[in-house]
Amino acid sequence: MNVPFYGHVRQYHGIQAEIDANIHEVLESGQYVMGPMLQRFEKEFANYHGAKYAVGVGNGTDALWLAFQALGIGPGDECITTANTFFATAEAIWIAGATAVFVDSDPLTNCIDPSKIEAAITPRTKALVPVHLYGQCADMKAIREIAGRHGLFVIEDNAQGIGARGDGFRIGEFSDAACTSFIIQKNLGCFGDGGAVVTNRAEVDRIVRKLRNHGSDKRSCHSPGYNSRLDDLQAAVLSAKLKHIDEWNALRRKWAARYSACLKDAASFTLPYEKPGYYHIYHLYVIETKEAAHRDALLAFLNANGIDAKCHYPIAIHQQEGYPWGKPAQIPSAIPNSERNAACCISLPMFPELTADEVDCVIEKVLEWDRQKGVA
Ligand SMILES: *Cc1c(COP(=O)(O)O)cnc(C)c1O
Repeated sequence: MNVPFYGHVRQYHGIQAEIDANIHEVLESGQYVMGPMLQRFEKEFANYHGAKYAVGVGNGTDALWLAFQALGIGPGDECITTANTFFATAEAIWIAGATAVFVDSDPLTNCIDPSKIEAAITPRTKALVPVHLYGQCADMKAIREIAGRHGLFVIEDNAQGIGARGDGFRIGEFSDAACTSFIIQKNLGCFGDGGAVVTNRAEVDRIVRKLRNHGSDKRSCHSPGYNSRLDDLQAAVLSAKLKHIDEWNALRRKWAARYSACLKDAASFTLPYEKPGYYHIYHLYVIETKEAAHRDALLAFLNANGIDAKCHYPIAIHQQEGYPWGKPAQIPSAIPNSERNAACCISLPMFPELTADEVDCVIEKVLEWDRQKGVA
């Protein structure tokens, strides 16, 4: 049996009538950019977060750096984040003209370790940029507390956590902005590129709204801005899918629970850690081999057996060749947990439309490899 990593077409077929009807509505309206469907989706998306505002933009990277820009973060400023994340987290900081400073991640959750943040704060620090990695919230209570004490902004990289919750907090609740991506691989994916900034701050909403549309909030009047809009066809797809996101996330949790129950006795790797009281939505189900040398072997074994496992992310940002912008990586102290995560991670197939047979096939192959390791 072959097990794919994604189920995009299965998902489309599951709610095809709803998506097609929304797309048809846009096509017949003749309003394809900044039209009523975008407005409708922005309202729905803000409501979903219990937030005041949501602004649709071109992609998740733009969502991040437009939020930075709306908050006045730019050249000379430092933003504290993690190196074990998708490249775009740091890329957006650099695009804004600021410097990314990497602190270590928590060894269990792989999200930023709040206890490492304060030692990295300098007079130039302007913001904390936690990532809700793999679909589990970073510790926003601790992060907000540190930010409050030092007068820092908090911008959440929520590309992977739509629908996740912490122990008594929601995404967007403890930050100046929460930025997400709607590229198809994400839990809420459109049929192209898309992103959004969710915020409770009227100023952030107003400025991002203006920046995304050539610096214009009034016809023919402009200040310097950009073109980064979420188009109405993507909004149509997202509006249809948003109604299902909670049930899809629940299915991800169901498959994660099955993986974890059946793999818990394996000796050669560790399983994802779910923090008590947190609602992890398993954007990715990531195991870590105990020995870095085993990672590529397990990945190759699974791939050779028809299982499309992957790595997120095998090269931490500071380890990328030709470190971006020709600057030295800003790492105030060692980040062994982020480096271990990069060296040992393997993502097993994870999407709502998996079948029990597929999940069991993955489990069987992973256990087969684990037993061979025990012999070797
Ligand atoms: C996907 C992703 C982004 C960037 O989103 P794009 O829409 O591809 O620009 C940023 N941060 C993280 C953590 C991501 O996973």
